[in-house]
Amino acid sequence: MKTHILGFPRIGADRELKKALEAFWRGETSAQDLQAVAKTLKERHWAIQHRAGLDWVTTGDFSYYDHVLDTACMLGCIPERFGISTCDAGTPVPFEDYFRMARGDAARNIPAMEMTKWFNTNYHFIVPEISAHQQIRFSSPQLVEDTRQASALGYTPKPVILGPITFLSLAKSTDGSDCWQHADAVADAYAELLAQLDGVCPWIQIDEPILCADLSPAGRAAFPRVYERLNGALKNTGLLLATYFDVLDDNMELALSSGCSGLHVDLVRGGATLNSLLVCLPGHMSLSAGIVDGRNIWKTDLAKALATLGNILDRFDARRLIIGSSCSLMHCPVDLEHEDRLDPELKSWMAFAVQKCREISDLAFLLGEPGGQVSTEGISLLEENAAELRSRRTSGRVHKPAVRERCNAVGPHMLCRPTPHADRKKAQEWLNLPVLPTTTIGSFPQTTAIRQARTLMSNGTMPSQDYESFMKKEIESAVRVQEELGLDVLVHGEPERNDMVEYFGQQMNGFCFTRNGWVQSYGSRCVKPPVIYGDVFRPLPMTVFWIRYAASLTDKPMKGMLTGPVTMLCWSFVRDDMPRSEVCRQLALAIRDEIRDLEEAGVRIIQVDEAAFSEGLPVKQRDGAEYLRWAAQNFRLATSGVSDATQIHTHMCYSEFNEIIHAIAAMDADVISIESSRSRMTLLDAFSVADYPNDIGPGVYDIHSPRIPTEGEMEELLHRALACIPAERLWVNPDCGLKTRDWPETTASLRNMVAAARKVRASL
Ligand code: GLN
Ligand code: ZN
Repeated sequence: MKTHILGFPRIGADRELKKALEAFWRGETSAQDLQAVAKTLKERHWAIQHRAGLDWVTTGDFSYYDHVLDTACMLGCIPERFGISTCDAGTPVPFEDYFRMARGDAARNIPAMEMTKWFNTNYHFIVPEISAHQQIRFSSPQLVEDTRQASALGYTPKPVILGPITFLSLAKSTDGSDCWQHADAVADAYAELLAQLDGVCPWIQIDEPILCADLSPAGRAAFPRVYERLNGALKNTGLLLATYFDVLDDNMELALSSGCSGLHVDLVRGGATLNSLLVCLPGHMSLSAGIVDGRNIWKTDLAKALATLGNILDRFDARRLIIGSSCSLMHCPVDLEHEDRLDPELKSWMAFAVQKCREISDLAFLLGEPGGQVSTEGISLLEENAAELRSRRTSGRVHKPAVRERCNAVGPHMLCRPTPHADRKKAQEWLNLPVLPTTTIGSFPQTTAIRQARTLMSNGTMPSQDYESFMKKEIESAVRVQEELGLDVLVHGEPERNDMVEYFGQQMNGFCFTRNGWVQSYGSRCVKPPVIYGDVFRPLPMTVFWIRYAASLTDKPMKGMLTGPVTMLCWSFVRDDMPRSEVCRQLALAIRDEIRDLEEAGVRIIQVDEAAFSEGLPVKQRDGAEYLRWAAQNFRLATSGVSDATQIHTHMCYSEFNEIIHAIAAMDADVISIESSRSRMTLLDAFSVADYPNDIGPGVYDIHSPRIPTEGEMEELLHRALACIPAERLWVNPDCGLKTRDWPETTASLRNMVAAARKVRASL
């Protein structure tokens, strides 16, 4: 029996990588400094896995920005606009150029590559771009070097690579050509990499999560040929085909006949087909059982996991069994030990990446005890685990009967607005907005002073009156800037918020917070998801104080800003003892209470952000409808308590709208703003094809990049938008909130945006 994890979080327990990247980007440190941090992190993470007792340490799970971008670079698959001619030479992409691809090149006005979410996680990857004449050539020995380095340090390395079928499935064609025409060239490049790794390590993990999703017919057709080529490149090393995030079912046959020496399955999200898998698994294949959840922070139920593994061993040779995490641990925080302020009882229910490594080796230890006899050490391990799980199951902090009763009492009249949008639109005319109204998505730059004030307030060093007047000044200056820019619907700027989920979670019952539980979202950006451990309710108003103040400063409409129930759910670590839809309903009722209070306070435009709405989609399309039904319903439960004359907005970040457009219509927000500038408004097609009836604000500029968009380019995007959406229903706004930008960029960009809107307005 062997043990491993599918990947370790790369960001560092103290977000060392984030800090090093940002210092490098600011020009404060050199490439060598950054590379030294990377080396330290890789080696530290190998040591952690080794110390925990895992047989293999994973190499290749580190990335300076994103592992999909790394794979594109490894293949020399680089968009022409960056002017990097590496693929002809087969040499690695120069270090600085790598970041230009990820972040865009402001100096040369080259836009960044697109980014989208990694299956149904909150991680975002860079979408590979391929054109018909793209040269593909193996171009980076980094993984080979890392793997040799781990070996030299005395570890048994197990490199991980993103598989070619998933890579090509995630790639987007830039010229309408078929990405799969490159399948053979891609397979050749991978084969070259594998040949270099052959014999350096016992196993190579090749990640093909696409096998658990909707693999296209072209992908299915290419799979056998590509894997034959890959396996042909290896003589002394096994290829472990790693699948995760769901069951394999439709693609089980492909995986089983891949010729690979091992198959990893996710038993947390894909355990349903384990029995049929055990029957079909060919004799030459090892099974890696992903039994420890890589995507949450709850302790594994050891007894339950042992039962599952025991069931496998009844029918399976232990020498062919590998025990692992369900997927990479990059989706959970690094080390629970660092949580010195977490309530001890709550903490005793949790495990982070470091602890999960230990759980895996504990499971192997417990399973491997000779003759099935459990030693005293084994018994105490199991008893301690059972006691912790029992305390969680029975805790009065988790279970609040009043919340359950209120959820059960939700009737149909609470689930939709009484009047259709067209009539509400008339009732909202009193807002007196021009055609193509301009607004922003909520946050304004979070300056150092703002962050500092929040820190001082939370550690008790700043008196609350001082904090209050500081925040009020920030809000006032944001309002004045917006008035001066001539925006139509203002926001208060969210200076008091650390994070759009944490801010609300902190004011609701049933949430707890870690100090250092960071998880990478994209590049250097990390999030610290709150933990929903118990029944949720809102004891007191959460935003009314600040928004009422902001509204008092201006005659322009002030938009109240909340985070929606689905996003609260998707961006938290959610309890695993209740269906997600139920937790979402509790959140929806809490937000409904807040909206009622805002409306009573005179705030008549309220935006309920559902940035993560599509992240909750299951990985398989066929399971989507059920999720979308309850997600849209819970959004309506949160927002439908207002009068017709109150305007409800929602906002969504990166999404493919085709699949979810009916659910978006079912949310029935009066206005939705979406991120669409990088895809040049093509996302709007989904709205026009579906005759989406409500108002839309497609983002006219990319807030992920420091580049200031010109008036002309936004004007052009607005004209493109007008081809899909009639002017009466079109809003003008950036792609998303501006908290990561600085003020000069922000005002310059918004000034151009308002000017573009006025130009287009005048042309109507
Ligand atoms: N209102 C939030 C903001 O502007 C929305 C952020 C988001 O959608 N990610 O920051
Ligand atoms: Zn957004």
